[in-house]
Amino acid sequence: MENLIPVINRLQEVFLTVGAEVIHLPQIVVVGSQSSGKSSVLESMVGRDFLPRGSGVVTRRPLVLQLVNVPPPGERTLSENGNGMKPNSQNSYPGIKTEEWGTFLHCKNQVFTDFDEIRQEIEKETERCTGANKGISAEPIHLKIFSPHVLSLTLVDLPGVTKVPVGDQPDDIEQQVREMILSYISNPNCLILSITAANTDMATSEALKLARDVDPEGRRTLAVVTKLDLMDAGTDAMDVLLGRVIPVKLGIIGVVNRSQHDINTQKSMAQAMQDEQSFLQRHYPSLASRSGSRFLARTLSRLLMHHIRDCLPELKTRVTVLTAQYQGLLGSCGQPVQDQSATMLQIVTKFATEYCSTIEGTARHIETSELCGGARMCYIFHETFGRTLESIDPLSGLTTLDVLTAIRNATGPRPALFIPEISFELLVKRQIKRLEEPSLRCVELVHEELQRIIQHCSSYSTQELLRFPKLHESIVEVVTGLLRKRLPITNEMVHNLVAIELAYINTKHPDFTDAALVSASVNSAQGETLQDSGRRWKSDRAAEEKTSEEKVKSSGSAYSSPTRSPAVNLLDTPVPVSRRLTAREQRDCEVIQRLIKSYFLIVRKSIQDSVPKTVMHFLVNHVKEHLQSELVGQLYKLPLLQELLTESPDTALQRREAASMLEALQKASHIISEIRETQLW
Ligand code: GDP
Ligand code: MG
Repeated sequence: MENLIPVINRLQEVFLTVGAEVIHLPQIVVVGSQSSGKSSVLESMVGRDFLPRGSGVVTRRPLVLQLVNVPPPGERTLSENGNGMKPNSQNSYPGIKTEEWGTFLHCKNQVFTDFDEIRQEIEKETERCTGANKGISAEPIHLKIFSPHVLSLTLVDLPGVTKVPVGDQPDDIEQQVREMILSYISNPNCLILSITAANTDMATSEALKLARDVDPEGRRTLAVVTKLDLMDAGTDAMDVLLGRVIPVKLGIIGVVNRSQHDINTQKSMAQAMQDEQSFLQRHYPSLASRSGSRFLARTLSRLLMHHIRDCLPELKTRVTVLTAQYQGLLGSCGQPVQDQSATMLQIVTKFATEYCSTIEGTARHIETSELCGGARMCYIFHETFGRTLESIDPLSGLTTLDVLTAIRNATGPRPALFIPEISFELLVKRQIKRLEEPSLRCVELVHEELQRIIQHCSSYSTQELLRFPKLHESIVEVVTGLLRKRLPITNEMVHNLVAIELAYINTKHPDFTDAALVSASVNSAQGETLQDSGRRWKSDRAAEEKTSEEKVKSSGSAYSSPTRSPAVNLLDTPVPVSRRLTAREQRDCEVIQRLIKSYFLIVRKSIQDSVPKTVMHFLVNHVKEHLQSELVGQLYKLPLLQELLTESPDTALQRREAASMLEALQKASHIISEIRETQLW
């Protein structure tokens, strides 16, 4: 079985890598009658003699023998705590220098390097539990053998099937032993070595009967016929070995173990094997190549190898899946920084590009859940801002009284013939001022959006930023700073847009309704002609000035007090709404209102058009154009590079781990494909 060792050891590496369940090699359990040679067969499989053997009931407790493959002493790497240990192995071998040793579960801290002592300990422990007089116990003895020459495998030696109680054995000894055996061999991951001595009747073999109970199809039962050398003269086991007596699917293998005499005279295992071969050559020449302990070991190896092969596809899948996972992980970690300047420029450029393309709408990661970047600005300009402006009533907040008051104030002490232009200006300016607030709000909204894009770019495009938290922070700071710097400039400009409108009321604007036309249309509504309007205006006004004055007086309102200026009066004491206006007043008001409306619409249109342009020019485009140079200018300073490009410790660690895992996985994959191609026989 030694040729399986390297395979298993290499697989072990794979398991350590992928963290998969270890391929559970089948436990090998020997069953058979008392003294049929079970312990002897096990021993020759292990290649060392350490099991108590002999006539009578020797094995009286199950012996669970766990073989552990360890590197030879010279190759045992020293772990950090100074112990000679296989890396990552759960078995520790504190400071053991010998090639092979054993430990018992029942005496934890004791290391047995002498195999005779191991045998004595088994005997002692058996007696401790079962007494000296042939008693039997189901409580197993656990023995671990560590050696570079063994396969990591578990073997179980069991007491033999017995019919008649002897010594301290209870009456139901047969039943007890049978149950004990069944409890081991019913495990489906157990290979049954069914032992029958050649000098007993194979047809009545208890071992084969038990095996059949749990493995009726014979898929995991291998029959071994021992003591070929002890057959009566003139008889041979040909029929049995050829399966003519009882067929066994996996095979029937004849062996010759060491006799009691050999044991007593300490015949070596090597010598025993040699003698076995010459015996087989002499007595079973046709079967010699398919018999003997060596062939038995090879057959066991083959069965174990089949088992391993069955497990490989799943293992391979696991390696493939993990490889993909770790490749993804490694990719997301990015390459370690080699050239700091280049990395910095690259990240900054990438961020700036991404920022700009989010505004342009050419970003790689198009947001689908909400408007963002340029699209959202478009929405702010046309929907939020545009609609707000459109919803402003040109005359809102302007009562008839306001208009009248303005007219009167503008007229001053003299009665006027025409509606004073200054009153129109006064009033229209008041309305125009109302455009400033929504315009400034528009700037604010775009500014907010520009800040939001920073977040958007950080989370989507520039994975690298997550690696360098300090750089990320600084980039956000610089961009925020740039935005903040541009805000007052843009606000000022927008404020000026309105101020410009206020600075000069251009009544010669081509779209402005001509005052004459307005009053004409107002008058014509009352059935007058355009030519009349000028004349009527003057005369009417003179006449109505009086009447309204009188009316106010007669109403006793302070509004007409001659001692106080009309302006003060007008502001202080509003005319009751219920007062009816004269026709003249009504007409004047209407004229002014129409003019205000006409002019206001011109200005509103212009503001609606120029605010977005201003915001784009002074804020958005400026930021777009200067983002990169601002970032480079502020961050690309040699003493800063080191600090900014410090990776987050998580990333560095993650990359290291992912890289070494990938390397291990590649090796594992290689090992698996090699093993799948290996022919061991
Ligand atoms: P177990 O009770 O089934 O474990 O049988 P053991 O392995 O203890 O062997 C019982 C006795 O049979 C021992 O004295 C062995 O030396 C002897 N024995 C086992 N196999 C053979 C064999 O193939 N040939 C000879 N001559 N003796 C054997
Ligand atoms: Mg035995």
